[in-house]
Amino acid sequence: MEKMMGVLIAGTVTLDTVQTPQKQVEDVLGGSGTYAAVAASFFGNPVRLVGVVGADFPQPYADFLQTRDICLDGLKRVENGKTFRWGGRYAEDFNVRDTLFTELNVVVDFHPVLPDAYKETPYLFLANDPPQLQLSIIEQASNPKLIVCDTMDFWIHEEREALKKTIERVDILILNDSEAKLLTGESNLLRAARAILRYGPKRVIVKKGEHGAISITESSFFSAPAYPLTDVIDPTGAGDTFAGGFMGYLTSVGDVSEGSIRKAMIYGTVVASFNIEDFSINRQKSVQLSEIEARYQELQEAVRF
Ligand code: AMP
Repeated sequence: MEKMMGVLIAGTVTLDTVQTPQKQVEDVLGGSGTYAAVAASFFGNPVRLVGVVGADFPQPYADFLQTRDICLDGLKRVENGKTFRWGGRYAEDFNVRDTLFTELNVVVDFHPVLPDAYKETPYLFLANDPPQLQLSIIEQASNPKLIVCDTMDFWIHEEREALKKTIERVDILILNDSEAKLLTGESNLLRAARAILRYGPKRVIVKKGEHGAISITESSFFSAPAYPLTDVIDPTGAGDTFAGGFMGYLTSVGDVSEGSIRKAMIYGTVVASFNIEDFSINRQKSVQLSEIEARYQELQEAVRF
């Protein structure tokens, strides 16, 4: 039998309301699963999405995901339910974001059952979701080659113990700097990352927003710069897009060596840099692989010395 390829992405598929100093958008397509799946879809391997939406989820949004060859067999539609809604507001410099509301809606009672065709997927990405849900995906997958998990402050506050049980089972944990400190109680980022390694993962990737991302294992350290951008329109989903690009590249090379992980972080950085140039996934709709390659080369040049 031909070896199954591709990446499974489980995450939220949401309707977002976002306010920036310049503009407000309402009920636009968002969600950790959405951003990650669209980003992963640039790299030419099957992307299988697991998530849940309500009856109010606009059909054109689902149609768009399908135009990117994202398999939606694992995206459940609850006919009498409401889609997850999230609202956020950015301050003038975009480094500070206030969450205005998080309405989990159909996510609360979602117990995903992986379609048979999903179970053998070698690369697993558990984007931001309730930690119990992330664990249930791990338990249903048969022998994945790599399990990567993302989380955020909301789940660290609400479900710390369940989150630790999920983290124990993953190969790589991705989170941002303040979340790494919040999870571990350490104020130094390296100490926080090392504490997370003791929970179980072999690698921790810490996102630092406009300051790039770092990767830490017991024996390695790598620092990826952020792509220098002057015109930020909406940073929502940048972290999920980073992770989706990271997974998409790794899946395409089929290798999880240190070298490939480093390149994957740069691809993730580049796709995220495009994502923040517009609201929702709008910039990802138009960006071409050649533009991604060009920014990859620019970043390579930027750190050569
Ligand atoms: P980020 O900017 O990377 O934090 O991602 C923001 C995206 O994640 C938005 O599209 C939200 O709808 C979604 N989101 C916000 N809060 C949560 C949560 N608690 N769990 C999962 N997804 C969330």
